[in-house]
Formats: sequence, structure tokens, C-alpha cells
Amino acid sequence: MGEIMVRVYAPIARPTIGSVGKTGIWRSVKPVVNYDKCINCYLCWMYCPEGCIDIIDDMVRIDYDYCKGCGICSNVCPVKAIEMVREE
Ligand code: SF4
Ligand code: SF4
Repeated sequence: MGEIMVRVYAPIARPTIGSVGKTGIWRSVKPVVNYDKCINCYLCWMYCPEGCIDIIDDMVRIDYDYCKGCGICSNVCPVKAIEMVREE
């Protein structure tokens, strides 16, 4: 009997355009960083399940093309520097 290959497509941290597209359009609330409060601990960067937080010039930057608004970054931030704001 021949071998059957089954391919499973699952969401990945940074889907490319053309696979599942820019997943940020699923978001109803978005995280907004208050850089006056941020202490650059990078916990949000470590815990973001989408891998959509980058560190640029030592500061965290959220890639809203892929952020799904789960709020984990806001929850893990020790100084409450990330506010979840409803999308317009
Ligand atoms: S809301 Fe979720 S997906 Fe968006 S940056 Fe925060 S942890 Fe990542
Ligand atoms: S978790 Fe909070 S304090 Fe730490 S880098 Fe992210 S926004 Fe800044």
C-alpha cells in the first residue's frame, strides 16, 4: 500500500503574507506601549505568542500587522506600561 502524506497547516508565530495573511486584522483591542513607564525588561517580547514584538533601538515595538490583541503582553508587564485599547 502506498504511503499517504498528510500536511497540516497550523498557525505559526510570523505567518507570511500568502499563507494566512496579516493576522492583525482579527484584532478587536490593541496593545499600546506607554514609553514613559516602560523599563525595557522585555518580558512582553518574551511572552508574546505571535512573536510580533520587536526590539528596535533597545525599545519594544509592536508589529500591528500580526498582533492579534490577546493582551498577554499587557498582563505580563510588571509596570503596567501596556494598555489594551479598543480598535476604532
Ligand atoms: S496583544 Fe498578544 S499578540 Fe499582540 S503584542 Fe501583545 S502578546 Fe503579542
Ligand atoms: S513588559 Fe512592559 S516594561 Fe517590560 S519591555 Fe514590555 S512594555 Fe516595557
